[in-house]
Amino acid sequence: MSDPLLHPGSPRGLYVRTFGCQMNEYDSLRVQRLLANLGYVTVNDIGQADVIFLNTCSVRGKAEQKVHSFLGTLRRLKDTKPHLKIIAGGCVAQQLGAKLLDRFDHLDMVIGTRAVNSIGRMLQQVQESGRRLACLPDEESDGPRLDGRQILPHPSITAPVTIMQGCNNYCTYCIVPYVRGPERSRPADEILEEIRLLDESGVREVLLLGQNVNSYGRGLDENITFVDLLRRIGTETGIARIRFTTSHPKDLTDELIRCFAEVDSLCKHLHLPVQSGSDLVLARMNRGCTAAGYMEKISRLRRICPEIALTSDIIVGFPGETEHDFQKTMELLEQVRFDNLFSFRYSDRPNTRSASFPDKVDPEVASRRLLELQSFQAEITLAKNLAEIGSTRLVLVEGPSRTSNGQMTGRTTQNRIVNFQAPLSSVGQIVGVKITLAYSHSLGGDIIPA
Ligand code: SAM
Ligand code: SF4
Repeated sequence: MSDPLLHPGSPRGLYVRTFGCQMNEYDSLRVQRLLANLGYVTVNDIGQADVIFLNTCSVRGKAEQKVHSFLGTLRRLKDTKPHLKIIAGGCVAQQLGAKLLDRFDHLDMVIGTRAVNSIGRMLQQVQESGRRLACLPDEESDGPRLDGRQILPHPSITAPVTIMQGCNNYCTYCIVPYVRGPERSRPADEILEEIRLLDESGVREVLLLGQNVNSYGRGLDENITFVDLLRRIGTETGIARIRFTTSHPKDLTDELIRCFAEVDSLCKHLHLPVQSGSDLVLARMNRGCTAAGYMEKISRLRRICPEIALTSDIIVGFPGETEHDFQKTMELLEQVRFDNLFSFRYSDRPNTRSASFPDKVDPEVASRRLLELQSFQAEITLAKNLAEIGSTRLVLVEGPSRTSNGQMTGRTTQNRIVNFQAPLSSVGQIVGVKITLAYSHSLGGDIIPA
């Protein structure tokens, strides 16, 4: 089979498959843009691909298994298409490095989380030399500087903006500090410039990304905190809406809480992972925060901003978690009544401290607890959605709804999805919608004429 590189005129297809978090989504967009500079067109059909980029996640055991099984399925495709180049990036790639090449002999390249910028150069090396490569630098590798506007694949209403990478918190269960490295913040002026460019190109809402955004600024030459950055985005750019994720409860300051009342463009939603309602478990997780401390912050948030929506992450079945600990988590859920929740069964991850902790919870017990917790939260989420009926919400229209025929979809400032009839010309506008319907994951309503 001929190599399209040797026939520069022929179209080259890039198929991207992303597992995991918004950071990975962002990196996949960067890869698409970087390879577009080399003439690759992103394709939705894997059969059309000349290059496959698999962006992997290893935060939980289940996510990593999915990556291994997907990689396995690519062998047959490679057999029928020898010029196909398969690249693995993201956290599994960073964690296993060349071992991933040993395990999958149809894999051509492994690229670490700090090497995304050099993907084009590395791919060319693989193609020209025919050799398989692993590239895992300790520092961010050089490459063309891309801003958020450049990486958006098509005109978009919302856009991610990475403000920092890595994490120094070392929660005992978490692999992130090992695969994403230490915390590094981007200079504020660079972030502001990126947001201004996004605003000019029609983006209305930015999602500031980082593993622990409220420690933004540490290590930068300039003296700046996350609160300063938020306030500067609010006053120095025209962006209509700002969201951010993720923040750590131990670093949630009163100054940041006040921003929800004082920065007009900051959306009234906070994702604040608590992980457990038991102080004993929280201490073993090295979270640096007690359940009472968390509740106190929730009260302050609600005092300052009564309409704020709160979401969280919970891990059940952490080593040593007793039935009593689990009931503490259920009590916390009952007290807070989160608007939505992401919940996971604990899994051992390589290098993490908890992997060697004794008293592992029986997987069946952990699964039963997870089900119990999820069904309780489903009731709360639905009740909260039902309580929206009759209210009028400001909705940023993102585009045609994928599920409801002829309808538009958008989000309230509290991050609830709303579907409603509206003209295509409403995309990008913030419109009033009277909520008339509530489901488990979305709302429906009628647009209020301007
Ligand atoms: N930086 C964020 C924070 O501090 O909460 C989230 C990082 S992590 C990518 C997302 C979520 O995955 C965590 O909040 C936690 O609930 C879950 N998680 C991380 N490690 C896990 C593990 N070993 N087993 C189960 N869930 C895990
Ligand atoms: Fe992982 Fe904890 Fe860092 Fe979040 S704060 S990325 S859970 S180590």
